[in-house]
Amino acid sequence: MNREALMEATRSQMPERRWRHVLGVVSAAEELAARFGGNPEQVWLAALLHDYCKAWPADRMESIIREQNLPPELLDFDKELWHAHVGAWAVREELGIEDEEVLDAIRYHTSGREGMTLLDKLVCLADYMEPGRDFPGVNKIRELAQHSLEEALVAGFDSTISFLLEKGKTVFPLTVLARNDLIRTIRNQTKIS
Ligand code: FE
Ligand code: FE
Repeated sequence: MNREALMEATRSQMPERRWRHVLGVVSAAEELAARFGGNPEQVWLAALLHDYCKAWPADRMESIIREQNLPPELLDFDKELWHAHVGAWAVREELGIEDEEVLDAIRYHTSGREGMTLLDKLVCLADYMEPGRDFPGVNKIRELAQHSLEEALVAGFDSTISFLLEKGKTVFPLTVLARNDLIRTIRNQTKIS
């Protein structure tokens, strides 16, 4: 599939508002990649497809999680997390995307994970700070992203975790692991420099 066809296929999965968010994530991810590196083709593809099935009905995602043996523990946590794993499955199935690094960046764009790759970080951070985003702390994240992917991502996960705590919701363990891991990475970076 060429770029245009991939864009059309993605656009047709979602309402206009979500599509504008996707385009914002593509441009934010490309901007971050210009600063921090990353394979432009993978960055574009992962950013474009990251929310492929975000607008799908929850029951459709739930059956896919059950039938395709995606991590069953997802069902015990917020529905917000489902579209990332289901999306990675869906773009392979429907669009023939086989690049495991791109699939992982889609799969972990909401939760993060331990040992995030550069591509994971670019997509996850772009999702937090694309131009259309407006939530308490987003400007701080944009500021940190001027010099550190990791510091900006920690600020992003902090805002997610604080939000969940305030709402009395559960926190997905991978997000805590991702945050701890990034903090260790930052510590090691400052030790070296
Ligand atoms: Fe998402
Ligand atoms: Fe998104």
